[in-house]
Amino acid sequence: MGGGREGFVVEKISEESLHLVGNRSLRDYASRYIAIENSFCARAECFGVAFAKKVPGDVGIRAGDFSNAPSVHVCNDGKSAFATWRSSACDACRLGIGTETFVLTLQCPHRCFFCFNPNQADFDDRRPAARDVCRQLEMRAEQGAVFTHVALTGGEPLLFPEESVAFVHCAKELFPGVHVRLYTSGFGATDEVLHRLAYAGLDEIRFSVKTDQGMTDVEKALEVIGSAVDVIPDVLVEMPVMPDEIELMRDLLVRLDDLRVKGINLLELGFPFFNGDEFSRRGYELKPDPYCVLYDYSYAGGLPIDGSERACAELLEFTLGQNLSLGVHYCSMENKHTGQIYRQNARFAALFPLRSLSARDYFLKSAKTFGDDRVPVREVLSREGVDFDDADELDFTEFPLEAVSLLQGELPDIELAISYAVCESRNGEVILRELRLDKTTPATFDFAQDW
Ligand code: SF4
Repeated sequence: MGGGREGFVVEKISEESLHLVGNRSLRDYASRYIAIENSFCARAECFGVAFAKKVPGDVGIRAGDFSNAPSVHVCNDGKSAFATWRSSACDACRLGIGTETFVLTLQCPHRCFFCFNPNQADFDDRRPAARDVCRQLEMRAEQGAVFTHVALTGGEPLLFPEESVAFVHCAKELFPGVHVRLYTSGFGATDEVLHRLAYAGLDEIRFSVKTDQGMTDVEKALEVIGSAVDVIPDVLVEMPVMPDEIELMRDLLVRLDDLRVKGINLLELGFPFFNGDEFSRRGYELKPDPYCVLYDYSYAGGLPIDGSERACAELLEFTLGQNLSLGVHYCSMENKHTGQIYRQNARFAALFPLRSLSARDYFLKSAKTFGDDRVPVREVLSREGVDFDDADELDFTEFPLEAVSLLQGELPDIELAISYAVCESRNGEVILRELRLDKTTPATFDFAQDW
């Protein structure tokens, strides 16, 4: 993030910019976060994959990258983008409201080197039994859940075709009008199974095409996908993009378009904190500054691979240049975390009156003033009747972001920190954890523009 709009400057306090902070107490405070970030990155590299070198100015996909392609919609503050079409389920996934994904089994006949399932707490891919996902749906109905979208995933759910079909039936019966989708590698997706799923009311099927397991597998997958197009309303492909497979992906996009596939979700490739040898052998490196806000995100639990996002953007542009009918949606790893932050923060936001829930990224934010600046800031805030909190031991005063504008007349150039925080539950208590600091000044900050 950062300056983009005229006169508006909000910048992350990073290792590179720390020396530009003039206020000594703010500098000391911010340096703790830089130390935490450095130690996180050092621990991540212990899993066998190094961080790529930072490219100055590379901030990922932004609306401006597609200024010549107005048909590209950049969404979720640059964390995703799509052209032509994307599934309504992807829209619902952003905040995770009215949607849930059910795991039938973690068993899978494949061994994809990038698979995140071994990160799941109860991972045991030898476990033969399928989970009772119909009972899970019934329990959600009993609890009063209201779903617009549900999904069935694995492992490979079609290892259990009866249970997969039953899930679609149950979902449609318990939640009339719900959109049901199923994720599969294509294994077990025979014509008979596809017809039964369609008859049960399956709205969308998403195939992952395994490019890392040889071209025979790709051809087989395309054959199954071709059969699915004739019976399931929306057929999609969803797969991570390897930074070195752009040529292969271009061919695949054209072939999927020929098959009349509705869309493809290009996923940013992630490192799941294992198989480091395989990632290194392929020459992959971790994306520097992997997330706007570094945190222990629970979804997937890994870090993005450098170059995958750029490859996705190139493929998005390629489809436009070729006038393909296929909808193309880029989904970054960070896009998948938005719902988690929203769920953790939205319901507890009222407990922290000095903080506001950002409509842009859903972190709880406040302003902080440090050192000698605290006295004059407190004077203005007291005069204006604005609440604030003092943390004398850390030499800062915290106040609402909305009040920054009140300082513009008398204290336009003082350095302020914008604090990002997330709510966590610990021992039954909700606590606030601060994760990131940006630097701004009253003269260069505009609440209305960014929150
Ligand atoms: S097909 Fe999916 S579940 Fe199976 S190993 Fe590959 S990524 Fe994991």
